[in-house]
Amino acid sequence: CGIVGYIGKRDAAPLLLHGLKRLEYRGYDSAGIAVIGEERVKEKEEERAERDVSGEEGIRVVKRKGNVAALAEAIAGCDGGFLGATVGIGHTRWATHGDPSDRNAHPHLNEAGDIALIHNGIIENHAALRVELEKYGYSFVSDTDSEVLVHLIDHLWANIPFLDFESAVRQALSIVEGAYGICVISMREPDRLIVARKGSPLVIGVGEGEYFVASDAAPLVEYTRHVVYLADGDMAVVRRDGFKVKSIGNIERESMVTELDF
Ligand code: GLU
Repeated sequence: CGIVGYIGKRDAAPLLLHGLKRLEYRGYDSAGIAVIGEERVKEKEEERAERDVSGEEGIRVVKRKGNVAALAEAIAGCDGGFLGATVGIGHTRWATHGDPSDRNAHPHLNEAGDIALIHNGIIENHAALRVELEKYGYSFVSDTDSEVLVHLIDHLWANIPFLDFESAVRQALSIVEGAYGICVISMREPDRLIVARKGSPLVIGVGEGEYFVASDAAPLVEYTRHVVYLADGDMAVVRRDGFKVKSIGNIERESMVTELDF
């Protein structure tokens, strides 16, 4: 239903919660956020240097059935884990597949917990993909159509040589059918948000050394007037120092920054 994303220099969690509040008018049944903390990234690099670890617990997720206020309360109850995280994503869900519940709320994680995804829309071929992924040993923790996407990205990334984060997402999108707006983060490439849209809107808010992503301009207006409306069928890699738009089929796209009137 609603998507927000942030990458920059400020604490992501309060910004994401604020953005989700701005999206409440659309209606929803649950809400959640996922962030990557700087400390965790550093920890991870050291760990990697020692013993080539990929995956393991890393991204912090809190998601709840109910309203954004309940989510904010749950986050406030977490021990400092959401401070110092300057990359993150947030979602308000309007359930289409799977009951409204904590478990079915977004973001969804891969099994290693190093990829987190939020999704608006419906993945039409989710049942067939779920069966295939289960054959490869993936186990699902939710009843949503959305969860197939995160396991599919994980699976392709692990099995196709030389893929990076962006191309793993691109490959996954070439397999799924349906409508989507997505925003994905990963510990393996923690300096970027990957977004894509097909039949579901997405806007990038351009700041100074920081970028915002949202499913409509409402959460962005208090942070920036400069926005890029992603065209249908496009995807973008958003980093602290800029963003690049391509089609989901990997063709370079011009992107136009427009100014919001308000
Ligand atoms: N189909 C997804 C779900 O049921 C996303 C719904 C939405 O757009 O919020 O979880």
